[in-house]
Amino acid sequence: MTTKLVGVAAASGLSAGTAVLVKGVDVSHAGRKIEKAEVDAEIARFEGAVEAASRDLEQIQKDMAAKVGEAEAEIFGAQAMMVRDPQLAETVQENIRTELVSAERAVLLAAEAQAKIFESMEDEYFAARAADMRDVGTRLVKCLLGVSDSGLPRNLEEGSIIVARDLAPSDTAAMDIHKVSAMVLDKGGKTSHVAILARSLGIPAVVGLNDATTHIQAGDTLLVDGDAGEVTVNPTDDVYNAFKVRLEAQARKKRQLSLLRELPSVTKDGRKVELAANIGGEDEVQMVIDAGAEGVGLFRTEFMFIQVDQMLTEEEQFQIYKKVLSGLAPRPVVIRTLDAGSDKELPYLNMPKEENPFLGLRAIRLCLQEKEKIFRPHLRALLRASVYGKLRIMFPMIASLQELREAKAELEKAKAELLAEGIPVSEDLQVGIMVEVPSAAVCADQLAAECDFFSIGTNDLVQYTMACDRGNAAISYLSDFFYPGVLRLIARTIEEGHKKGIWVGMCGEMAGSPAAIPLLLGMGIDELSMATGSVPQAKAIIRNLDMAKAKEVWERVKDMTSNTEIRAYLEGVAEELVRDIGK
Ligand code: PEP
Ligand code: MG
Repeated sequence: MTTKLVGVAAASGLSAGTAVLVKGVDVSHAGRKIEKAEVDAEIARFEGAVEAASRDLEQIQKDMAAKVGEAEAEIFGAQAMMVRDPQLAETVQENIRTELVSAERAVLLAAEAQAKIFESMEDEYFAARAADMRDVGTRLVKCLLGVSDSGLPRNLEEGSIIVARDLAPSDTAAMDIHKVSAMVLDKGGKTSHVAILARSLGIPAVVGLNDATTHIQAGDTLLVDGDAGEVTVNPTDDVYNAFKVRLEAQARKKRQLSLLRELPSVTKDGRKVELAANIGGEDEVQMVIDAGAEGVGLFRTEFMFIQVDQMLTEEEQFQIYKKVLSGLAPRPVVIRTLDAGSDKELPYLNMPKEENPFLGLRAIRLCLQEKEKIFRPHLRALLRASVYGKLRIMFPMIASLQELREAKAELEKAKAELLAEGIPVSEDLQVGIMVEVPSAAVCADQLAAECDFFSIGTNDLVQYTMACDRGNAAISYLSDFFYPGVLRLIARTIEEGHKKGIWVGMCGEMAGSPAAIPLLLGMGIDELSMATGSVPQAKAIIRNLDMAKAKEVWERVKDMTSNTEIRAYLEGVAEELVRDIGK
């Protein structure tokens, strides 16, 4: 049956593909009735799952023994034995044959029956074995369904559509993300990190769907519309064919936009706006060049720290920054110092749990607290790499002038240290801050006097100005950069920055929004940094615009009082500007 689900449009684009459920192993529903002819195949599937599960458990046992100790690891050794238990195999095979159910159902029935026997023994030891038995059953079912222990899919097929409750940055890091053609999530908002990742990879995403994982089964055909925030499950032929026509138009538009690659990003009347890309790792350098971006306006360094299981050394960091800077030279590259903490946890730092992580020890706060362990090697690596390209260092989450001064003092110390060691540092180095905490926007005049540039981070600026958790779908109506309160802070930041003679850019998601671009130009923005995939469209808009129109847009928006009115007006303006692309 066809179902249409509506959520938050998190990453634009269309995609048709097959659902891969992550953590969708609903133990109570897994499995199905089978025909007699399928019995042998189901038994073979079960045997394969036993092999895979015992291999996994033995590996976990080894890893745990090394990390935690032999005694703690032994539980997994015991579970490996339970998985291979001939008695369990016999019961499962019996269930497949007589109940005519698939291997998943047969395993669950067998594990539950055995767990009940353990429980009836009324002994603490056996009660624990009952829990182990259910665990083993779940693990076998996960193997049968092709999802790994953590719920992440193994052996992703090209064109898979990931359907999950939520995905942490570490989950996406562990996934073969290039095979994913769309993401569909129960949780999350427009600026949750998984949404950002999807945009930077050009993968359509719909988030905040609440219960997509209960409506969608693994293997369902999905049509994902990342612009409307809609997911169609098992479409009729007519719906599928209509969607295919739109997919073709999307491909045509992409081809047309790619022709702008070598052209400069200037308005019709000659105002230059630097168009840059946001990246999360060294492997995205070629994508930046291919998109026709003029540099990187935000390198989110935290992603490289999330992908490893211990702190990166100065040397390891240096190699990565050097590769990015030299790969993009002479283009400028803004590297943001580590923005870890909040939802971007680094497990190896063993940070205490916080009541309000988004208001807690994250970004520059963490670096200033852990100067020796984190900040010093980080800054030294950046400075050492500075001679290989055009580096701009950016401090995130600056809330006060004191923080900026303290961060700059650390940078100066690191520089002096390196020079004393005879290691060169670039003379042409800019130091700036993200304006993403409302106090920084309010005090933009003071901060601008002591740095070289501002980059406005609208994802956090909206979150903190509107007091709205950026990942909470229940209040996503507040997560909008078109609220007048947010626009006033942005305009103020640009104006105060210019008064002090520094350039002001934007690297939050607003920068890549077609509706926002004319408005931002009207406010006087100097640089826009966005998901690589959004660069060609932004260039088309800028090249179709003139500054008189942009200023008029800002003047009109100034008088508007609601975000929906502003959005509707600006979407109309943007539509005019891109009307002929893809026709
Ligand atoms: C922002 O807050 O707008 C930003 C660019 O930083 P991040 O999304 O990484 O927090
Ligand atoms: Mg931020």
